[in-house]
Amino acid sequence: MTTATPATARRTTAGAPVVEMREVSVRFGATTALLDLSFTVQDEPDIGEFITIIGPSGCGKSTLLNLIAGFVTPSDGEVLARGVRVTGPGRDRGMIFQQYSSFPNLTVLGNVTFGMEINDHELKLTRGERTDRAMELIRQVGLEGHERKYPDQLSGGQQQRVAIARTLALEPPILLMDEPFSALDEPTRLEMQELLVELWYRRQPTIFCVTHSVTEAVYLGDRVFIMTQGPGQIAYCIRDCIPPSPGIPPLVAQERYDFKNAVRVVTEAFRHVLENGMETGRHGPVPG
Ligand code: ADP
Repeated sequence: MTTATPATARRTTAGAPVVEMREVSVRFGATTALLDLSFTVQDEPDIGEFITIIGPSGCGKSTLLNLIAGFVTPSDGEVLARGVRVTGPGRDRGMIFQQYSSFPNLTVLGNVTFGMEINDHELKLTRGERTDRAMELIRQVGLEGHERKYPDQLSGGQQQRVAIARTLALEPPILLMDEPFSALDEPTRLEMQELLVELWYRRQPTIFCVTHSVTEAVYLGDRVFIMTQGPGQIAYCIRDCIPPSPGIPPLVAQERYDFKNAVRVVTEAFRHVLENGMETGRHGPVPG
């Protein structure tokens, strides 16, 4: 676990876990997407965990994120975010999708200020403060000079930077990301991984990020969940062997012994999940 001083105050109910799932099952008709899922992510003052989630296709990874986001309701059990039962989307939980989700008719600046404008009754920022916050984020995601452009004038990587800035503008303590970089080419993907780790380290939200890449899961995360074949459960929670990445570019990190060891541990656990399916031991951290 890395520590850092956050740029923003966190608004967590004292003592409540950041996210808690209690015996959650989700059924879509005859399909059971998740079965009896329980886990807790504790709140640690000023420290946000970065949890990456991998698992076989269709095991319920997106459903897990959608539950926390409030887009999906549990069939059984309950989901709590910062001590409050999740009954729908909220400003405390930001979601970033694989598809670029910017508004095509708004400029970069317009996209980043949009969420602040519609939440004006809660945020109570002046127009100047909204613009200042947006411009600072645009700078942090490396889009300075592009603020007057429209999304279709930007590359895929730049559009995903807009989506990140737009989501961070509301300073959500919980950030949900569903394969955010899988549509990008490899060099851009590596750039975005480094940017995301830097932003996380600086701001310390709790992040849940689904990825299909073990290397990405190890680079981004400080804890890796591996889910079983559907109906999904968390088979492994791997933390001890995952080295910190802030300040280290992905290609440099990947050359290090501790990184390679973590990739080996996670890959072996993932293979075990694929070969043993539901027989896989639940919640067992494998040795790091
Ligand atoms: P993953 O993200 O791991 O690929 P999903 O969470 O998308 O898995 O889906 C888990 C299972 O639930 C799959 O069998 C999928 O087909 C099913 N599913 C997900 N969403 C819906 C839905 N809205 N309606 C019906 N079935 C769904």
